Amino acid sequence: MSGARHAFITGGGSGIGLATARALATTGVRLTLAGRNVDKVQSAAEEFEFAYAVACDVTDESSVNAAFAAARDRYGVIDILINNAGQAPSAPFKRTTLAFWNAVLATNLTGAFLCTQVALPDMLDAKWGRIINVGSVCSLKGYAYVSAYVASKHGLLGLTRALAHETAKQGVTVNCVCPGYVDTPIVTESIDRLTSKTSLSAEEAHASLIQFNPQGRIIAPEEVASAIAYLCTDAAASINGAAIPITGGEV
Ligand code: NDP
Repeated sequence: MSGARHAFITGGGSGIGLATARALATTGVRLTLAGRNVDKVQSAAEEFEFAYAVACDVTDESSVNAAFAAARDRYGVIDILINNAGQAPSAPFKRTTLAFWNAVLATNLTGAFLCTQVALPDMLDAKWGRIINVGSVCSLKGYAYVSAYVASKHGLLGLTRALAHETAKQGVTVNCVCPGYVDTPIVTESIDRLTSKTSLSAEEAHASLIQFNPQGRIIAPEEVASAIAYLCTDAAASINGAAIPITGGEV
């Protein structure tokens, strides 16, 4: 294994997760790419020299346990956990059912809790670890029609801050990156939803999403990935419990 670090990336088959995998691979990190759609993570893994693809539903404790055990068998203990899996459905609050609410919280918040529960003990034993939670600008401010998403991402930042205090003396840092709209499949789905449910054209829907970004543009997944990769370095050891906005100045 030559001392190479091992990163477990949830939702590693697309978007920010895949861009993060690419950024970490350039620094020699071994990758486990996890997602529900095993074909997607499998085909993503094929572009890397050292990447393992594993089926994992972060909302299901036994699926999480099995995925981490398989990853450990493949590349050893996990040094870096990227809690990136997420979903971003929208609904006015009055149409936010309990089932809808629970599904969003289960993926975006409880999923990170379950993965961290499994990954953290080995990091504490090793006295080195990095946990990066992929929050959102919605960890830092409210937006209309996404109350479950905003609550889940505020919760994820709360988990980040609390855990960062607990692990601070043990070589493990816990941080949260908070991007605005990023060019990934989640945003493509949001644009499709807007064009099908409103009279907006695709261009108008796109413009409505980027209107809050002072730079007036959508963010590239690589911009988020490079911030995450930096947080995973030894040089970032003093950055702990941080919420890092990647928003073009929105917050
Ligand atoms: P993607 O749709 O590309 O990524 C989401 C990933 O999450 C998919 O790979 C999906 O894989 C995985 N996923 C969803 N549910 C589960 C689950 N239950 N278990 C395991 N994996 C799951 O979009 P993004 O890259 O944009 O999203 C990544 C993260 O970035 C999310 O947490 C999102 O909230 C956050 N974010 C995105 C922004 C954006 O504008 N794009 C802005 C701010 C934050 P699969 O379906 O195979 O399970």
